Amino acid sequence: MEISLEQSYAAAIPELSVPWRAEVPPRPELVWLNEELARELGYSPDWLRGEEGLSLLTGQIDGTTAQAYAGHQFGSPNPQLGDGRAVLLGDLVDTRGNRRDLHLKGAGRTPFARGGDGKAPLGPMLREAVIGEWLHALGVPTTRALAVLSTGERIAPRQGVTPEPGALLVRVAASHLRVGTFEHATWNLDPEVRERLVEYTIQRHHPQADGPLGLLEAVTRAQAELVAQWMLAGFVHGVLNTDNVTLSGEGIDYGPCAVLDVHRRGAVFSSIDRGGRYAYGNQPGIALWNLSRFAETLVPLIGEEPNLAVEQATAVLEQYEGWYQEAYGRGLAAKLGIPPGEGVQELGAELFALLEEQQVDHTGLFRRLGEGSAAALFRDSAPFEEWKVRLQGMRGDGPRAEAAREGMARVNPVIVPRNVHLDAALRAAHLGDPGPARTMLDAVSRPFELRPEHAHLEGAGDGGEHFLTFCGT
Ligand code: AMP
Ligand code: MG
Repeated sequence: MEISLEQSYAAAIPELSVPWRAEVPPRPELVWLNEELARELGYSPDWLRGEEGLSLLTGQIDGTTAQAYAGHQFGSPNPQLGDGRAVLLGDLVDTRGNRRDLHLKGAGRTPFARGGDGKAPLGPMLREAVIGEWLHALGVPTTRALAVLSTGERIAPRQGVTPEPGALLVRVAASHLRVGTFEHATWNLDPEVRERLVEYTIQRHHPQADGPLGLLEAVTRAQAELVAQWMLAGFVHGVLNTDNVTLSGEGIDYGPCAVLDVHRRGAVFSSIDRGGRYAYGNQPGIALWNLSRFAETLVPLIGEEPNLAVEQATAVLEQYEGWYQEAYGRGLAAKLGIPPGEGVQELGAELFALLEEQQVDHTGLFRRLGEGSAAALFRDSAPFEEWKVRLQGMRGDGPRAEAAREGMARVNPVIVPRNVHLDAALRAAHLGDPGPARTMLDAVSRPFELRPEHAHLEGAGDGGEHFLTFCGT
């Protein structure tokens, strides 16, 4: 089998990365292999488990690079970021004809590492794998893990004093082009590089886009749809810095992320997000803020006349809200089992206010609404019953209600990577038992069914109010 990957990015824009090779891990072992994704990429799982496969998965191949980028972190510009602990293995065209990047996280220090050790602990790499598989199974655009490996090395603890098992995550992404890539090209490089970057991005992700303004529109639309789906799923990314915003519209870099238990607009799970900038309810607004930073990098390319270019870019950004509401309304209607259209948003807003007031579980509500047992989740079910009468008015009775129930069971998951269960699984992996994390990966890959071996993963978590994650960054 052929392992050589293409290097289309480095070939098109060599200024944006440096040749770099992953460290040789002392005793690499596969902790989890995503067999379904392997086949989709054209790899046989058996080959990947063998010696040559392990060379690929640990980055011991030629042509690899570390990518340069910049970004706004928590609102402040940082001109010099980049792959500090990762290498781009290369890209390939998968069995469906889509070009995908293979990327290796935890590969040791690179020239962009600054003070970091270049390493990744096993727990956070498994978390990224679990979240990616769950979002993918829900139909939300996301980067995914092809494999998680342990390196055989003990690394400095991220918190506490106990050394952690070192790990590698092999990530598959439509690409690693980020808003931060454009910021780097704009702030630090010749304008001609940015022009080539625009061309490459259009060709790779948005071939229908007409020039820089068309690219802005396509990316804005893709991000609006992505964030709408996160909101419906109850997903909190946790670090929506511009270097974690892709141009493909896939979610990326699941560090201190989590899924809501109780529906709370102010939910924050990241230990470093003290101001709540990236709280659950702030995500749609923050995505627009990030897109505005993207627009700024494109303005000089949009036209000769700066005022006109700014006007044109602003007009595109002003459409974000509409695209977001459209995607959100469509998804919400499906979750509620009603036809999309007028009144859906309003009905949803009232429901969410009730959930917040009575501290009701986000995912549990939708699932049990389809099963006809949601009232039991409320301390005082009277306002919910009133709300439900209006829902039923929009839905109709008889066969329509039955069809709605079936449809809802296909969009409202029963399996959620709940903080309490995910944390327990990651802790077990940290202590040497990857079994519970593998079980979780299996469960989240088919989240609409409850298999007996996953019964312990069903049901509400502990509310999640006091849950904090320290992963990533
Ligand atoms: P993140 O918040 O994970 O997206 O990462 C932000 C930046 O910090 C990126 O430039 C990463 O490459 C870098 N980084 C994160 N962890 C490490 C580490 N352990 N060693 C070196 N660089 C790191
Ligand atoms: Mg990042």
